[in-house]
Amino acid sequence: MPRPIEALVHPAALAHNLARARAQAPNARVWAVVKARAYGHGIERAFEGLRAADGFACLDLAEAQQLRELDWRGPILLLEGAFEPRDLELCSRLKLTHVVHSPAQIDWLAMHKTHEPHSVYLKLNSGMNRLGFAPTAFRAAHARLSALPQVDEIGLMTHFSDADGPRLGQDGIDHQLAVFETATEGLAGERSLANSAATLRHTERAAQDWVRPGILLYGSAPDFPAHDAAHWDLRPAMSLRSQVIGVQTLQPGDTVGYGSSFTAQAPMRIGTVACGYADGYPRHAGTGTPVLVDGQRTRTLGRVSMDMLAVDLTELSASGWGSEVTLWGESARGAVLSIDEVAHAAGTIGYELMCAVTARVPMRVA
Ligand SMILES: *Cc1c(COP(=O)(O)O)cnc(C)c1O
Repeated sequence: MPRPIEALVHPAALAHNLARARAQAPNARVWAVVKARAYGHGIERAFEGLRAADGFACLDLAEAQQLRELDWRGPILLLEGAFEPRDLELCSRLKLTHVVHSPAQIDWLAMHKTHEPHSVYLKLNSGMNRLGFAPTAFRAAHARLSALPQVDEIGLMTHFSDADGPRLGQDGIDHQLAVFETATEGLAGERSLANSAATLRHTERAAQDWVRPGILLYGSAPDFPAHDAAHWDLRPAMSLRSQVIGVQTLQPGDTVGYGSSFTAQAPMRIGTVACGYADGYPRHAGTGTPVLVDGQRTRTLGRVSMDMLAVDLTELSASGWGSEVTLWGESARGAVLSIDEVAHAAGTIGYELMCAVTARVPMRVA
C-alpha cells in the first residue's frame, strides 16, 4: 500500500474563484496566471477549472506549449517574454503574446523573421524595480516597437509591489498607478496592471482592460492576515490530506519528536501523521499550527520531521489510528483549513506552500 498522503486539486473551486475575479472586475478580461505549474497544482490538473478564463499567463515556453497541447487556442501571455532570440520562433508558432521588458528583447524582435506580426505587452517599471522600462525610457521603447513590422498590437503593463497593503505609509498602488498613467498617457493599447491583490482591493482604479490574478484562483487570500480567504469568498483549490498512522499516550513530562521541543504538561493522546517536510509541509511550522483531524480543528505538536509530524488528539476521543488528516484545504467532510493559516504559522505565504508540494506526493483531480 502506498503512504496514505495525497494532494487533491478541486476544479469546482478553481472555477468558483475565477468567477469571483470576474464578478469583482466585470468589465475586465482575465488572464489566469498559471506560472510555476499553476502554483503547484499542475497545469494539466488546473486547466479544466480555469478554462473559462479569457487567456492564460505563464512564465516559460514549456508551459505555453503545454497549454496548446491541452488544445487551448485563446490568448497566452508569456510574463517575462523571450529569454533568448530563438524563443521568438516558438512565440510565432504558438501565437504567444509576450512581454517586452528590455532593450535586448526589442533588438531580437527587429531581427526576427516572421510571417505574422506578434502581439506584445510592453512592460513599465513603475516602481517595483524588477523588470520593465524606466518611465523615462518607456515612450522611446514604444516608438521603436511601433515601427517594427514584426509587431502588431502593443499592450501596456506594469506590476504592483504593494497592492496587498500600504506602501511607505501611502495607499499601496497610488504611487505606481500615477507613474503608469503619466508614462502611458495618450498611447493606444490594452492596459493590464492588477494581480490578485489589486483585483480584490483596488478594483475601481486597477482593473482596466485585463486583470492578472494568480493566487486568488487557487483559494489563498493575497492579503492574509488582513483578510482571509473566507472574507474574499475564495475556496481552496488544493487539499493536502494524509492519515494518522500511529497513536501515543503521553504522561506529564513526556516530550514529542526531534529536539524534544514539546513537553506534555498533562496526560495527552497524540497522533503521528504520514506527512513531513519531504512532502512539502513546512518544517518551520511549530507547535500550535492548525490542522484538521476527521474535519475537526486541532494543532501540531513539536518539530516536523522528514516523513511525519505529530497532532494533538487529546480532545478528539473519536479519532485515532487511520483518521483522516487535512494539512490544508478541505477535509472529506467539508471542513476547511486555509493554506494561509498554515503558511502564517510557518512564517511564509500560501504561494510558497502550494508551489512546494514535492514530487513524491501523488496529486490528482478530486
Ligand atoms: C505572478 C504574477 C501575477 C499574479 O500574481 P498574484 O499575486 O498571484 O495574483 C501577475 N502578474 C505578474 C507579472 C506576475 O508575475
